[in-house]
Amino acid sequence: MTTIRTRFAPSPTGLLHIGNARAALFNFLFARHHGGEFLLRIEDTDRERSTQQAVDVIFDGLAWMGITADETPVFQSTRQPRHTEVALELLEKGLAYKCYCTPEELKQMREDAMANGKPPRYNGMWRDRDPSEAPAGAPYAVRIKAPREGETVIEDLVQGEVRVANAELDDMIILRSDGTPTYQHAVVVDDHDMDITHVIRGDDHLTNTFRQAMIYRAMGWDLPRFAHLPLIHGPDGAKLSKRHGAQSVVEFRDEAICRKPVQLPAASGLGPWRCGNPVP
Ligand code: GLU
Repeated sequence: MTTIRTRFAPSPTGLLHIGNARAALFNFLFARHHGGEFLLRIEDTDRERSTQQAVDVIFDGLAWMGITADETPVFQSTRQPRHTEVALELLEKGLAYKCYCTPEELKQMREDAMANGKPPRYNGMWRDRDPSEAPAGAPYAVRIKAPREGETVIEDLVQGEVRVANAELDDMIILRSDGTPTYQHAVVVDDHDMDITHVIRGDDHLTNTFRQAMIYRAMGWDLPRFAHLPLIHGPDGAKLSKRHGAQSVVEFRDEAICRKPVQLPAASGLGPWRCGNPVP
């Protein structure tokens, strides 16, 4: 029988708040319930926006909540060579291609699409163009060839069957012209390599799932099961954020809002519940 493996994959670009913590909890409890494994991956590929403070809050907040990973946490930035390797494999197989579009050309493409009442998508300009036409020495991005016909269907464990016409997907970038992988690409390669069986995350990622499915299919990899959770919203209906006063998880600890330590039964497998604060 396959071991259930889940993961929590926060980006350390903002401080872990209860919305993120809730996703971590679902992943952790689902894995525990099934006798599986729970993993932590810090998605720190955005070097400019990632901060050490945010990484510390992830570790401290999860430790305070008793959510412990079963393997050494993975820092996504260390896996860049592997992300590149997979992109090159897709290039070699002809399932991805080099796109030499300049920022001006891309801007024009978006404007043209919008003027025609179409969503601003890449128009496949370099998809079938002969590589000999490439401007010598010019930088290029690697794009995946999106399927143009049929539809992609995801059997989501929370949302049910969700489908999108493939014509809605465009040839997204997997490697930027500076050689860095995009989120869509890195997350698929890492979830595959970490043997993740269930991806449980906020439903703001549902549209990403259709895009990520392209990479799984192109590589001939099995897709994990997906469960997209409704998000916690603020009173104005918008996704919970700092603007709603969303605190970092460690602020709750520091404000001593949990006062009564509770001892969970050993059989729960959650370990003794602990509160970081002195009991009054
Ligand atoms: N790093 C992403 C985020 O913090 C999550 C990626 C995922 O769960 O697939 O939104």
